Amino acid sequence: MEEMPLSDPTAFGPAMRLIRRRRKYFFATIIAYMPAMWLVNRMFPTFRSMAITFALWVAFLFITALYSAVARCPRCGQYFHMNGMSLLYLRRCLHCQLHITANRAE
Ligand SMILES: [Zn+2]
Repeated sequence: MEEMPLSDPTAFGPAMRLIRRRRKYFFATIIAYMPAMWLVNRMFPTFRSMAITFALWVAFLFITALYSAVARCPRCGQYFHMNGMSLLYLRRCLHCQLHITANRAE
C-alpha cells in the first residue's frame, strides 16, 4: 500500500498533527518520571512500589517511543524520527528535512 508523496504543505496537516501529538506524549512521559516517582514515594514508600512504578514507566516510555517512531513523514513517506536503527527526536524529518511545523503559517 504505497501512498503518493504529497507536495502541497497544506495537505500535511493531519499527519503533522499526529507526529506532534505523539512527540508530545513521549516527552510528557519523560517529564512525568520525577513527579510520578516522588508521588509514589510519598504514598507508598517501599522499594517494591518504586520498582513497580519504574517498570510501568519504562513500559509506558517504550510504547510512546514506539508510537512516535512509527509516525510517517507526510512528504517522503519515511519514518519521521527513525533512520535505519537510530531514533532521533529532531524537529525535522530525518529523510527529507521537512520541519515539524511545516504546515503552519510562518
Ligand atoms: Zn520526510
